[in-house]
Amino acid sequence: MPYLHGAAGPQAHPVPKDARTTHSSGQSFEQLRQGCLQAGRLFEDMDFPADNTSLFYSERPPVPFVWKRPGFWQHSEWLDVVIDDRLPTFRGRLVFLHSADHNEFWSALLEKAYAKLNGSYEALKGGSTVEAMEDFTGGVAETFLTREAPQDFYAILGKALKRGSLLGCSMDIRNAAESEARTPFGLIKGHAYTVTGLDQVDVRGQKIELIRVRNPWGQVEWNGPWSDSSPEWQSVGLADQKRLCHAALDDGEFWMAFEDFRAHFDKVELCNLTPDALQEDALHRWEVAVHQGSWVRGSTAGGCRNFLDTFWTNPQIKLSLTEKDEGQEGCTFLVALMQKDRRKLKRFGADMLTIGYAIYQSPGRDGHLDKDFFRYHASLARSRTFINLREVSDRFRLPPGEYVLVPSTFEPHQEADFCLRIFSEKKAISRDLDGTVDIDLPEPPQPTPPEQETEEEQQFRALFRRVAGEDMEVTAEELEYVLNAVLQKRKDLKFKKLSLISCRNIISLMDTSGNGKLEFSEFRVFWDKLKQWINLFTEFDVDRSGTMSSYELRTALRASGFQLSSRLLQLIVLRYADEGLQLDLDDFLNCLVRLENASRVFQALRMKNQDFIHLNINEFINLTMNI
Ligand code: CA
Ligand code: CA
Ligand code: CA
Repeated sequence: MPYLHGAAGPQAHPVPKDARTTHSSGQSFEQLRQGCLQAGRLFEDMDFPADNTSLFYSERPPVPFVWKRPGFWQHSEWLDVVIDDRLPTFRGRLVFLHSADHNEFWSALLEKAYAKLNGSYEALKGGSTVEAMEDFTGGVAETFLTREAPQDFYAILGKALKRGSLLGCSMDIRNAAESEARTPFGLIKGHAYTVTGLDQVDVRGQKIELIRVRNPWGQVEWNGPWSDSSPEWQSVGLADQKRLCHAALDDGEFWMAFEDFRAHFDKVELCNLTPDALQEDALHRWEVAVHQGSWVRGSTAGGCRNFLDTFWTNPQIKLSLTEKDEGQEGCTFLVALMQKDRRKLKRFGADMLTIGYAIYQSPGRDGHLDKDFFRYHASLARSRTFINLREVSDRFRLPPGEYVLVPSTFEPHQEADFCLRIFSEKKAISRDLDGTVDIDLPEPPQPTPPEQETEEEQQFRALFRRVAGEDMEVTAEELEYVLNAVLQKRKDLKFKKLSLISCRNIISLMDTSGNGKLEFSEFRVFWDKLKQWINLFTEFDVDRSGTMSSYELRTALRASGFQLSSRLLQLIVLRYADEGLQLDLDDFLNCLVRLENASRVFQALRMKNQDFIHLNINEFINLTMNI
């Protein structure tokens, strides 16, 4: 995970060993610093120059404050971002984020590094506080509207504080004029506060829930009940006062009753930290699992459940919840789905995609769930909305069991990489259902010995003689001729021409004797096989278009025994489908024959059912040129 290297770091955090260097020079912070020290000059960042290319907007940034745990974290890995200490200013004041203390530059430096990571300050526009919190910490943010917050809101906040989560709260504004307006209770509208504590006191046998809030200005405090010098404190014992560190200091920090807090503040933003961002000795932490994946047009970009025909092709992640929460019936977990690098692409006109996810009860078997499953089963839970934000995250509580998560874009055929993170209260096991390849082919049919031939078979032998000619062997050219003649007559196939290359591939698959031609027994096996392939094609060409769409292909492949990984399916579509994501019979045969050929070669070469083979370069090239 990354650490900000600026002129005035707030805390001496060690640089994590696996931080990846992002500076174009390929040098790390240490190397760059060494270079500057030797040359006796201050560091000047050429990757992010102090001019308009890095700036370009004049309004106040939507990132009103910065938290105290630096990091630049993007998509689940820490990056080491090096910046210089030149900041955009106007009339001697920082244009962007600044803290109350004018000598406190670290927050501005932090923002600069964040802007650099995203290309420019302009790219930050339209981002939310929540996004900034996540990028600085690597955590997952949640937003609670206090009016709609769950029953156990107080407990949720209590757990969050124990886990070292960052908590902010604010009051909404209806228009720009209300920004930073002061209420009669001393609270500032449209201003980001920090929640720093939660506690309870006994007042005449009644438990009062309290919350401690901090105004980052370091002054201007709440003046209602339980504020610094309010009379409520007189009804509390000295021990309680001491425990709550109650002191009437005008330091921006104050207590208020949780009830009042809910009435006055509109929103609580909570940033759940991953264990690697927390101190070693933190007692309470989330268990976190990360899955990286992609939606690729034609193979895994299936869109949401409204699109039943393609929804099932989305990536699927299986989640096993085994342990209940402490004293609870269910298992609490958070699912955060993030689309990657869209903000950087904004410069080039890429908008955020609308994304979300659904959670299904697992039917108890492994492997990618198919269309019929989704036709007949409703989801148990979903992300609150499908929305065009960088990240969609929600909190769930489900009974122990096995579930399947399906992340998707709203519309099908939209492409992006994504990162899905699961934060669970207790350890949970999750794994990708699309990473495995499983091939289950029937034994190749054995040719019948000539003496058992039926009359029909004898007729077939006559056909073979006509095709093969005098040498009684069928070459690729002869095969091309006869197949084109036969298939031309099929009305249900959109058929142009079977290519010579397909015929060569077919011969390579069927030629058991290894002479590059098909003799009668080989041709026989092939002819049966051809019937199966054509049946497969017509059966899975569901919309009767005469061509096979990439989605129809996926079902057809599965029916013929090929369970392929998402990656492999993406590759096949790229190689065999046309621009409209369609395969004609020739593409289809080519693809199927190669797949079967490769699978059979693998099966023949592997030792004792092991799932790998050893090849040297000569054997490998030989093999690929022959498949
Ligand atoms: Ca105070
Ligand atoms: Ca042969
Ligand atoms: Ca079709």
